Amino acid sequence: MKFKKFLILFLLLFCQSKKNPTFKIFFIDVGHGDAILIKIPNNKKYFNILIDGGERRYSKNILIPFLENEKVDTFHYIFVTHNHSDHLGGILEVLDNFSVSNLITSQKEDTKRLYLEFLKKLHQLDLKPKKIKIGESILLGPKTKIKILNCYKEGDDENNSSLVLKLVYDTFHFLFTGDIEGKKRKESSNVCRYTEKFLCERFNKELKSKVLKVPHHGSETSLTDTFLKLVSPEIAIVTAGRRRFGKVILPDTTVILRLLKNNVKIFRTDKDDYFYKNAPGDDHILIEIKDNKFICQYYHSNLIF
Ligand SMILES: [Zn+2]
Repeated sequence: MKFKKFLILFLLLFCQSKKNPTFKIFFIDVGHGDAILIKIPNNKKYFNILIDGGERRYSKNILIPFLENEKVDTFHYIFVTHNHSDHLGGILEVLDNFSVSNLITSQKEDTKRLYLEFLKKLHQLDLKPKKIKIGESILLGPKTKIKILNCYKEGDDENNSSLVLKLVYDTFHFLFTGDIEGKKRKESSNVCRYTEKFLCERFNKELKSKVLKVPHHGSETSLTDTFLKLVSPEIAIVTAGRRRFGKVILPDTTVILRLLKNNVKIFRTDKDDYFYKNAPGDDHILIEIKDNKFICQYYHSNLIF
């Protein structure tokens, strides 16, 4: 009899945990580029959110199968941080394969082929990007919101026009920064200019976040001291490829050292090894929040490392 009671209790708890989806963020390995899937629990289902889609050449073999494997059919929101191909490229395939309720872009226009193709696709699908303003918040449930901290401002170049998004889930804060910059090459990290300066002045202490998606794949032109100090993250996610990007190696060593000096734990989609032999798509970084417990770890072919 005792065993029967125990069994019923166990089954109840098991069903309960099955029924209640957990908050998840996936940083998908798409080589050099960003592709971030956020799953926010909503009445035993999920609000699916995508920030960027990586390069187009990885969408068919990596991004789309990954999203299908995560049982995504509709995106509540898609954010395209800016128009560079390592962020916008894969979005075109996503629009072909999934339904999208809301689309938000940086609002900077472009004349390049990829952007024009993107506009054509939006026209075909009768999908209009939502107009947004800096400082605006999108509510996604009683304890979840996304605040827009940056979009295109007059005079911004492509990188600095990136959407910057602050996601608040319960007591956990996340900062997504696209490819914003804070200094010129070879300049000291004490300097703070461009969009990092704008964010520090406008949002100051509000930048503080547990998790920071490191701007611009860890380029030496980003993550200045002032910006890093205000965000003050515990965890930094670097989205970088395993190959040289032109003449530049990303992430830049000075950026990694700056994070380590500030005791920030680093997770990289290229997994700490510049010559790592696996192809993009073999792994991802997963953040999960379950019963107020925060977990961040590497996954490889659905197995924990
Ligand atoms: Zn980029």
